[in-house]
Amino acid sequence: MPEPTSAAPGAPVSTAAPDAIVIGAGPGGLAAAAALRQRGLRPLVLERGERLGTSWRNHYDRLRLHTTRRMSALPGLSIPRSYGRWVRRDDVVRYLERYAEHHDLDVATGIEVTRVERTDSGWELPATGGRVLNSPVVVVATGHNHTPYIPDWPGRNTFSGDLLHASAYRNAGPYAGRDVLVVGVGNTGAELAVDLVEGGAARVRLAVRTPPHVMRRSTAGWPAQASGILVRRLPTAVVDRVAPYIEKVSVPDLSAYGLPRPRTGLYARVLDGAIPVQDVGLIAAVRSRRVEPVAAVERLDGDRVHLADGSVVEPEVIIAATGYRRGLEPLVGHLGVLDGRGRPLVHGARTPPGAPGLYFTGFTNPISGMFREMAIDARKIARAAGRRR
Ligand SMILES: Cc1cc2nc3c(=O)[nH]c(=O)nc-3n(C[C@H](O)[C@H](O)[C@H](O)COP(=O)(O)OP(=O)(O)OC[C@H]3O[C@@H](n4cnc5c(N)ncnc54)[C@H](O)[C@@H]3O)c2cc1C
Repeated sequence: MPEPTSAAPGAPVSTAAPDAIVIGAGPGGLAAAAALRQRGLRPLVLERGERLGTSWRNHYDRLRLHTTRRMSALPGLSIPRSYGRWVRRDDVVRYLERYAEHHDLDVATGIEVTRVERTDSGWELPATGGRVLNSPVVVVATGHNHTPYIPDWPGRNTFSGDLLHASAYRNAGPYAGRDVLVVGVGNTGAELAVDLVEGGAARVRLAVRTPPHVMRRSTAGWPAQASGILVRRLPTAVVDRVAPYIEKVSVPDLSAYGLPRPRTGLYARVLDGAIPVQDVGLIAAVRSRRVEPVAAVERLDGDRVHLADGSVVEPEVIIAATGYRRGLEPLVGHLGVLDGRGRPLVHGARTPPGAPGLYFTGFTNPISGMFREMAIDARKIARAAGRRR
């Protein structure tokens, strides 16, 4: 049994055997642990990083929640009003620290769970340092954005400039005066392109494979997240028929600037894992031609990048905002609890067939906001785990 550390570094916490183990001390894991505690269980949270909230500590400097403060609160503690409507990265981290303290959570940091094994009485978790932990209930909360992914472009290793994943980007400082190609126009790629322009990059191109749906973060005070919550139970076809009208009214046509309106339905794309891009400066930057949309990357060759439309560009830096993998296979792949795309078969209160006591949270990408959905899942998991006990 490891010696647990609490959310307040160094403070002693209970070493009694836990009723549940939560893997990952991000918002999803902390929410699940708090909800379990509120149901009278004693969960232990295991975190591979040195401190809780590792993912949020490592996000880029200008990041704010694009979901509202009120609709991002985790169970049992509001996000302070003083953090504003769109909460800054550092305040998200502060909130998570405060959250663990408020709920008196046992968080053991610097421990990576390497595998989840079935036993007669529950689950066995081998972890780094030769530790093995046991528990009847396990909540996997290791994050949707677990492993940075860069496509295996032909010639990738020949690229003579700098190539990094967006997860390694902090601010525009190192790129001032340089020619940068951002690849991928999800929320991260769109925001990094704007950050680079504002931070003095000499030239910023944005490689687009599939034109995104772009939405205003808020229109006349009404947040896009609230629309997401309202529409998420409607049939896909209905949302996809109505959405283009709203997009036409609220977002200008950027076709002339190289960013045409998408042909695929907004909600169909969400269900396929691509949530709309919330505008935090992209529209203005594209219209002023400070961010130049270009075609998708096909291959790299020395200092040249070949694009899908046959053109060639020569950036000094490529930033791949090309997403993440969930990385669940080494942990639970052998249990038959993942689908063909590596996603858990179930989430929230449900456990996979033949895996009682094994829960997942945080592996969907809903239009209504992940913090909100993880808060809902946390309560459901706690209720189900409490009943099991
Ligand atoms: C740039 C960005 C902006 C986002 N903005 C929003 C937003 O505005 N609103 C919103 O609702 N959602 C947002 N999300 C989505 C989502 O809410 C966040 O990714 C959130 O951090 C997910 O929480 P999580 O706990 O599931 O995962 P994480 O926060 O990634 O936490 C997982 C934790 O598990 C740990 N871990 C992983 N593997 C192991 C292991 N084997 N053993 C032990 N520990 C392990 C990690 O170190 C990490 O601390 C954003 C995501 C990104 C990438």
